[in-house]
Amino acid sequence: MKAPLLDLEPIHTPIRDELRQAVLTVLDSNHYIGGPELENFEREISAYCGVKHAAGVSSGTDALLISLMALNIGPGDEVIVPSYTFFSTAGSVSRLGAKPIFCDINPITYNIDMEKASKLISSRTKAIIPVHLFGQTVAMPEIIQISQDNGLHVVEDAAQAVGAKYKNQMAGSIGTFGCLSFFPSKNLGGIGDGGLVMTNDGNLYELLLSLRQHGATQRYYHSRIGGNFRMDAIQAAALRIKLHHLDEWTKIRRANAAYYLDRLKDLEIQGYIQLPVEVPENFHVYNQFVIRAVNRDALQQYMGDHGIGTAIYYPLPLHLQECFKESGLKRGDLPESEKAAEQTLALPIFPGLTNEQMNIVVETMRRFYASV
Ligand SMILES: *Cc1c(COP(=O)(O)O)cnc(C)c1O
Repeated sequence: MKAPLLDLEPIHTPIRDELRQAVLTVLDSNHYIGGPELENFEREISAYCGVKHAAGVSSGTDALLISLMALNIGPGDEVIVPSYTFFSTAGSVSRLGAKPIFCDINPITYNIDMEKASKLISSRTKAIIPVHLFGQTVAMPEIIQISQDNGLHVVEDAAQAVGAKYKNQMAGSIGTFGCLSFFPSKNLGGIGDGGLVMTNDGNLYELLLSLRQHGATQRYYHSRIGGNFRMDAIQAAALRIKLHHLDEWTKIRRANAAYYLDRLKDLEIQGYIQLPVEVPENFHVYNQFVIRAVNRDALQQYMGDHGIGTAIYYPLPLHLQECFKESGLKRGDLPESEKAAEQTLALPIFPGLTNEQMNIVVETMRRFYASV
């Protein structure tokens, strides 16, 4: 591979000794679930994101699930979600017996189209899950306004956006809950699965702690039904180390994005591709660098043949997934989500990617479009 989509090696190499030490310390502590590493991590990431409380959980998916559980969402309830997102944004709604209501996206930011979302609100709507897709935040004041006007909770899916900002507010710090994922490929990735729920509401935080532990308020006394949504100490220990480097990695991601934005401008002018747009109020963290491309599938094939890793996030919007056919939506109903699924391609952007590798990405794209 000349330029893989993601390589954790150059990211972990400079901190490998520290990570090893942290893992061994947890091993020798004989304390593997929660505990002081987790408490310290929760404190540190709350400070980083500017929220009062954070509860580490087993995954980003479980962060969404436990947030919706804390809001008592269940059968008969509706939750508005974008159709163009990772599966668990909507899967978590369905798992609780509630109905995900799929909304189309803004074609420039790929984030939920709030004007369309406001038309989907019914008397059954309990919450909305804006997804800060690819590392760029949704326009939060609009969401908050519409939600307040309609008595809805906002659960931010910030799984791709830790460190991203809307003006001075961090992604995940604005809604009732903010959810993070530490899946290893995310911009703050653990060494296994992990997630986090953030909130400024002390009562809801207590509820999260109970739900994370089978709904117990005290060991073996359960006031509600929860689950095992706990985070391992080893993840917390590794994430504490990686959190120190997040700003530096974000800076590199943004510099890599700037490189592509500059070097690929001419292909955009020629109409072959559309580059990502950073909205002025936003601080984009480029968890992914996603372009639209003419002849996308052929381009991806060509890039792959020339040793360049790319990915399609996401090839099929959620309203067209087999498991959500009850939504009754058909092809053509959410055209922007469908177009994005057909046209987008993610290029390598990870910190550790060299200029030489990015140059190969750019030149390979040029050669592809020169030949079509
Ligand atoms: C990764 C991701 C999740 C789920 O996170 P996991 O930790 O993999 O469960 C949810 N939403 C979005 C938008 C994601 O990218």
